[in-house]
Amino acid sequence: MAYSNNIDYEVYKQDEKDERSSRRVLVTGGAGFLGSHLCEKLLKAGNSVICVDNFSTGRQRNIEHLIADQKLQVVSQDVRLPVQMDVDEIYNLASPASPPDYQIDPIQTLMTNVVGSLNVLELARQHGVKILQASTSEVYGDPLIHPQPETYWGNVNPFGPRACYDEGKRSAETLFFDYHRMHGVEIKIARIFNTYGPRMRADDGRVVSNFIVQALKGEPLTIYGNGRQTRSFCYVDDLVDGLVRLMASPAELNRPVNLGNPCEFTIRELAQQVIELTGSRSRIVFHPLPADDPQQRRPDISLAEQELDWRPTMALRNGLEHTIRYFDRLFSGAA
Ligand code: NAD
Ligand code: UDP
Repeated sequence: MAYSNNIDYEVYKQDEKDERSSRRVLVTGGAGFLGSHLCEKLLKAGNSVICVDNFSTGRQRNIEHLIADQKLQVVSQDVRLPVQMDVDEIYNLASPASPPDYQIDPIQTLMTNVVGSLNVLELARQHGVKILQASTSEVYGDPLIHPQPETYWGNVNPFGPRACYDEGKRSAETLFFDYHRMHGVEIKIARIFNTYGPRMRADDGRVVSNFIVQALKGEPLTIYGNGRQTRSFCYVDDLVDGLVRLMASPAELNRPVNLGNPCEFTIRELAQQVIELTGSRSRIVFHPLPADDPQQRRPDISLAEQELDWRPTMALRNGLEHTIRYFDRLFSGAA
């Protein structure tokens, strides 16, 4: 792995391009939860990978096991600054994703999604390469249509505490489409639904990591609201497979595509499963529901099934077992 601490940007020489045998794939946010799994999969497939990350919510430890791979290059950079490098393909994942993380500095979140997306789109335009945007089910807000198909325009509060993320991601989709229409850039939009698995940060505040960490530590599981709100949880390996398939899809597939697991659970059911699987004696406590918290969420994945021949394979129970093992090892110092 080559590591660069350049805060501005790294410029790659043209003759490097001639020497290379595999594609150079840029993954912004590559040191994060999803990004690190994506970098790993792309490297395994023989690609060279450039991971650009400002390490705000990502961690170097997420990619440390890839250090020996000469095909990985890590660039410490904020995507709000222009990105200049020689690439063949771009996955844009840079953005905080957990509600507590993205609400710490909402202006930074919004700007990362708007200015950051603009910068990587500009790079895609200059090099004539494909670019995939990690969009989100949050573009549907607190949905009034259930399950959510890609044709639904959503129900988003534009000035609430979640708006920096929801509207940032919606604006990013707009920018992607405008770059496609104005400049012919080949775009892919993945609308990712709640995804979980190893390498989530123990303290990132999302429900799966919170519940597992609380259960393993014997602390009360914190349900926000009455726990009857629903989510549909996708295991990370399934999701990353969907991203790679979407990137490889024909150029005509430039519409947003939902990627998520359509099996829907209440938050109460999730808490009960985590308690059972960890064998924890933790009790459940109820905290107030955060503002604008969506009441229900389940993807309609017909489009991904049809166009990508993709559907998740990991049942929640099995995925939770893998994730519990990860956190168990992390706390015992073995991971
Ligand atoms: P994460 O917080 O673990 O990863 C985000 C990564 O982006 C981190 O490594 C962070 O340091 C980096 N980053 C943030 N701002 C940056 C900036 N300005 N410049 C450079 N790097 C920056 O979150 P994740 O769960 O891995 O999510 C990855 C992407 O997928 C995000 O764009 C998120 O919106 C999207 N997504 C994730 C989920 C999910 O359930 N995990 C659901 C929907 C969408
Ligand atoms: N949640 C919860 N307890 C927690 C963390 C989250 O009950 O400790 C709830 C949260 O209010 C939401 C659901 O779980 O209804 C999913 O939250 P998460 O932050 O994981 O993702 P998002 O709200 O973005 O779907």
